[in-house]
Amino acid sequence: GIAFLDGQYLPMSQAKVSVLDWGFLHSDATYDTVHVWNGRFFRLDLHLDRFFRGLEKLRMTIPFDRDDVADILHNCVALSGHRAAYVEMLCTRGASPSFSRDPRQAINRFMAFAVPFGSVANAEQLQRGLRVAISDKVRIPPASVDPSIKNYHWLDLVRGLYDAYDRGAETALILDFNGNVAEGPGFNVFRVKDGKLSTPAIGVLPGITRRTVFDLCAEEGLVAVAADVSVAALKAADEVFVTSTAGGIMPVTEIDGAPIADGKVGSVTSRLMALYWQKHDDPVWS
Ligand code: PLP
Repeated sequence: GIAFLDGQYLPMSQAKVSVLDWGFLHSDATYDTVHVWNGRFFRLDLHLDRFFRGLEKLRMTIPFDRDDVADILHNCVALSGHRAAYVEMLCTRGASPSFSRDPRQAINRFMAFAVPFGSVANAEQLQRGLRVAISDKVRIPPASVDPSIKNYHWLDLVRGLYDAYDRGAETALILDFNGNVAEGPGFNVFRVKDGKLSTPAIGVLPGITRRTVFDLCAEEGLVAVAADVSVAALKAADEVFVTSTAGGIMPVTEIDGAPIADGKVGSVTSRLMALYWQKHDDPVWS
């Protein structure tokens, strides 16, 4: 992979930052990840929107505008030689030259990198569906409880993952403050019931793959809403799937050891998965 750091393109192994950086010390950072498939970015504009909104909310400034960042990301991919890449742009608070505790003294640091694409789910899991456990850990929406700021805070999600592994599952979903289902480590969740889709509305990252599912549903004439999803409602679904830049639309066929419906990947999920990948070849969607 290739990284962009302090104005230079470097092999990943040479891209290093100080341990005094507040991104590391305080998770004081925002980031976004984009998927490159067949050499083409998918929905880059939406990822840039979310990244620049996060910077504004965190009062960070970088010496690059949207077009500059897009160029840097394209350069990282081109230099890496990868046709399928996982591309990340990030900005940390940085460090203060005088060790000040005042965040305004810190020099914000923009970085980017492109590495080979790695999915949340492997080919076998995409075929048969993921086995998920629902952990009782509660998602603390990052960065002052504004979940729209994409941040590295994952302690709740990682603890949820260990709960899932302890119970023989492959990945986890965790809860919101009201005990409803929130999201998982790097993905949003959808429930399909009687042909209608729902996905948690509060306390979750507004995922771009989630948004893409809404766009696909609009094209397909499917009803999709953002609304509370209780644990019981999720388990009683006809179909469940999760969504992430790192994996797209991924079926879930088992929750807490019990099958969802007949335990097979459902027809709505299959249809949306196929459409999702078709859109990667559609220049209107890139
Ligand atoms: N929720 C969390 C906590 C995430 O970290 C991510 C992505 O990394 C998502 C959801 C999915 O968002 P997107 O579809 O934009 O990748």
